This record gives sequence, C-alpha cells and structure tokens, in this order.
Amino acid sequence: MRTLKNILLSAAILIVIVAVLAGYLVRGGFRRFDITPYPVPRPAFTNWNDVLAEPRDISLTTFQTGVVHMDACLNLDPASPRQADCDHVPRDLAVLVHWIHHPRFGDFLIDTGFDDSFAKHPPYGNYTEAMKLFNWANGVTNRQEPGMDLAAQLARLNVHPKAVFFTHLHPDHTGGVPALGPQTEFVFGKAEASFLARAAVANHFQANAKFFSIDFRATPSMPPLGPCVDLLGDGSFWAISAPGHTDDDMAFLINGATPVLLTGDASHFAWAFKTGVGPRGWNDAGTARGRVSLERLRAFARAYPSVRLIYGHEMEHF
Ligand SMILES: [Zn+2]
Repeated sequence: MRTLKNILLSAAILIVIVAVLAGYLVRGGFRRFDITPYPVPRPAFTNWNDVLAEPRDISLTTFQTGVVHMDACLNLDPASPRQADCDHVPRDLAVLVHWIHHPRFGDFLIDTGFDDSFAKHPPYGNYTEAMKLFNWANGVTNRQEPGMDLAAQLARLNVHPKAVFFTHLHPDHTGGVPALGPQTEFVFGKAEASFLARAAVANHFQANAKFFSIDFRATPSMPPLGPCVDLLGDGSFWAISAPGHTDDDMAFLINGATPVLLTGDASHFAWAFKTGVGPRGWNDAGTARGRVSLERLRAFARAYPSVRLIYGHEMEHF
C-alpha cells in the first residue's frame, strides 16, 4: 500500500515537473497580442487583367539576412508522391527580407529575417528554447555573416520601414523584429497568431508592439487566386491569402514596372513550385489547404507569365 502511494506521488511530481517545463517552453503562447483590424481600402479592382494593365511606381528590393541549413524536403507535403524525387541532402535556404518603397506611402518590409544575434550566437540566434530544441531535433542550423543582419542592411540602404507585412509568423521570418524601431507596425493574417505561433515568435516582439490583422474571410477573391487585399488602395501592393503552411499565410504581389509575385512559404523553392509539391502544414488539414493555395499560385503564374516569381527561401534571381 505504502509502495503504491509512493509510486503515485512520484508520478504526480513527475507530471507536474513535465507540465511546468512544457509550459515554460511555450510560455510565449500565453502572451496576449493586442491586434487591431488592418484598415483595408475600398477595392478598386476586381480582376488581375486590370491590375496588371496599370503598373505603379513602386519598387522591390530583396536581400538575404542569413541561412537556414536543413533537409529542405522536410518543409514539403509528406504525402506527395513527388517527395521521393526531392533531394534530401541538407542545403542552404536563404532567409529573405523584401523592402518595398512607394514614393507616396513610404517604406515597408515583407518579413524581417534575422537580427545580428545569428552572427553573434550561432546556430540558433534569438530563437526561444523550444525553437532551439525543435531545430536541434530536426538537424536544422542557422548561419549569418557579420553585416548581413537586418539592422546593418537597412542602415546601408538608409531605410526606416513604417510597417512589416509578414508572410507568416515563424521565427525565421520574425527574427529581425528586435532590430526595428518601437513605432514599427506589424501586419499578418487574422488567424495567424495562434497559440503555437505566439509560442514560437512572441519573444521577438516588445510588450507594446502594434499589431494589425487582415481578415481574408471578409475579402473578395481575385481568381485564379483566393481572397486578395489591395494594401495601399492604388493597386500597387497586394496581400494574397495562401494558407496551409500556417493558418493564415500570405503571398504578395508588387505591381511595379516588372510585377513580382512573392510566394512566401506557400512555396519554399522553385523545384517545389514547378513540380507542384505543396508546403507541409502543422497537420494534415493544413497540408491539404497548402496544396490548394499552391495550385492557385501556379494557375496565376501560368495565366500571367510576365509576372516574376520569388519563392519563400530561394535567392536564385537577384
Ligand atoms: Zn520560412
């Protein structure tokens, strides 16, 4: 009887320790984000032919803030029959930041890449303990050359972005946030800041950070893509709903002299886009949504071959 009691007590203590440890690791998930709806301008366009017929004075500059070294096929739909063709040799994936300049509305970023902690403290930089553990368990390492970090590159360009639009809330996309000014506004999809997403990235944001969310459920579709938002109201800069890899990821279209479609992690690299292998979601339902999003983006690329493509983690063209 006494032994049983001791066993039960030990088990209870162990459960409490594990629960406290797990709670500590995902503590960011308990943080509340104070999120305001993004002020969506009145839609002035209903189809892509009209949008692309009116390119705007807007520029895009893409730069790399670091490297994620991993088996890139781990990011792809595990059930795809094409997985077997994917080259499972670990390789360098570019950690990209996109700077948008609009002469009237100012400077914006898409994603923030890495701050300088990745050069100072490789291989996990400013990741949470949980993300360090997750990277370690999956054999993922991160790298950065000195001067490659977000602050250094923005200083060289003399750019002070007023807002960041996130493709999604994963830490290789939010790791540069600590390098930005306290007034910077942060925009993402309405369903994006889930418990797990906050657990992975909340440590990058100050307690009083200004968050805005886009509700794609209230937004008309622009075939062959899904719901799309004309972010500045003049047809120059578009957010495109592309969920699957995460709950509410976005792709973007920059309608300058050469229009560019940024797929975000709806497609990590060219091979996956060209062969039609979707991204891996958090669960099977997410992966299924990712397949739909990828097919929409591929249909758009086929319909508008003059639009240049930039994939989520590939630095091939610039
Ligand atoms: Zn990513």
